[in-house]
Amino acid sequence: MRTAVVVGGGLGGLAVSGALARSGWQVTLLERADRIRPEPTAVVLWPNGVRALRSLDLGAGLDAIATGLPDGGVRRPDGHWLVQPRQTPTERLPVVVHREDLHDALIAGLGERVELRTGVTVRTVRAVSGERPAVSDGRHTYEADLVVAADGTDSVIRRQLAPEAGVVSSGCAAWRAVIPWYRAPSLPGPVGGEILGAGYRFVAASLGERGSSGASSRGGIYWMATAAGAPRPEPPEKQLALLRRWYAGWPAPVDELLAATDPTDLVQHEIRELRPLPRSYGFPVGSGGVVLLGDAAHAMPPHLGQGSCLAFEDAATLAALLRESSLPDAVVAYDRARRPRAAAVVRQTRRMSAVLQTRGRLALRARDAALGAITPRLLGSASSVAAQWRPPV
Ligand SMILES: Cc1cc2nc3c(=O)[nH]c(=O)nc-3n(C[C@H](O)[C@H](O)[C@H](O)COP(=O)(O)OP(=O)(O)OC[C@H]3O[C@@H](n4cnc5c(N)ncnc54)[C@H](O)[C@@H]3O)c2cc1C
Repeated sequence: MRTAVVVGGGLGGLAVSGALARSGWQVTLLERADRIRPEPTAVVLWPNGVRALRSLDLGAGLDAIATGLPDGGVRRPDGHWLVQPRQTPTERLPVVVHREDLHDALIAGLGERVELRTGVTVRTVRAVSGERPAVSDGRHTYEADLVVAADGTDSVIRRQLAPEAGVVSSGCAAWRAVIPWYRAPSLPGPVGGEILGAGYRFVAASLGERGSSGASSRGGIYWMATAAGAPRPEPPEKQLALLRRWYAGWPAPVDELLAATDPTDLVQHEIRELRPLPRSYGFPVGSGGVVLLGDAAHAMPPHLGQGSCLAFEDAATLAALLRESSLPDAVVAYDRARRPRAAAVVRQTRRMSAVLQTRGRLALRARDAALGAITPRLLGSASSVAAQWRPPV
């Protein structure tokens, strides 16, 4: 039986572990935390991410927890429409899912062939000819035919195999929360849409429906605010007070959502990305190999909501290639398939970063004009990026 060691129990690591196990591999999943712990936020999955999960046989689990996200358009903080909501066919629209629900679905898909070991921090990788690929935490060495590095933006495996890739700040911070319905009683559901200001952005989406157990078992309203600059060192109460000041007077439901947010709901993140990207995502080693997957391979800002979608594409592509080819060939083919794809999405995301972080009156006027004129190309880039990918047959 072929064996794999997957390092990292995030969305990418869980998806690929289940996919390999369902194809008959014996998988050891190593996670440094003491348990697999999702963030109490949500994630937007574009049709490419949904198609990838379906091709991994996780479609039914996803359907039970996902809420469709209608096109809510884009407004300025003064309420003026930059992009009017459009009628978009359902299959081109994203869905929103609570991360805890998604983790539950992915863990349910692991089956019995995955041995989960938590509290293991991988420190080194062995990828030399004449020996099987392996990772070590300094006490144990875990050997396998295939090592999958799904250990996130600060991947130790990538740092050793692709040291040219650097982690840099994207120049902004993000705050997210999920507000349970009962704490936002005056909001008429469903909530959706995006508001863009000078260096600031606010996105909101309903998870399930008010008053019903809904699609999500953890229903409510998800919001994400991004602001140019560094993350705030203050305690959550002060961060929330700052957010309420920055976004004061923005169109509904921003004020209401921030008023209904509890400091303990708040999840702050420094946005970071890989620059440059690794020169390779696949490293054949004798009759086996090592691959980079998810944020370890292509961490990017969340402006197009594509990070985990690409991790699921990686998992679906790897699983399909491993079914068709010998292991070293599949590792090379994985690199060939995934690097240009990730580079294209990262390029689009960086264009979006430049627009979102525009500050200053003149620059803003130019941005508004640009958004008005090239809306379908720029703001539609998430859907075009999503449309461009189909699972390998
Ligand atoms: C604010 C924000 C909003 C986002 N919104 C979206 C969105 O709407 N849609 C979307 O598609 N994407 C979104 N993303 C991106 C998405 O969250 C990531 O791309 C995705 O979670 C990456 O998953 P991963 O499994 O590759 O990495 P991670 O989730 O980082 O998981 C890595 C795992 O590896 C473990 N680990 C790390 N090092 C070691 C080690 N040495 N040994 C053992 N274990 C280790 C970690 O503990 C962790 O569990 C967003 C990101 C942010 C920051």
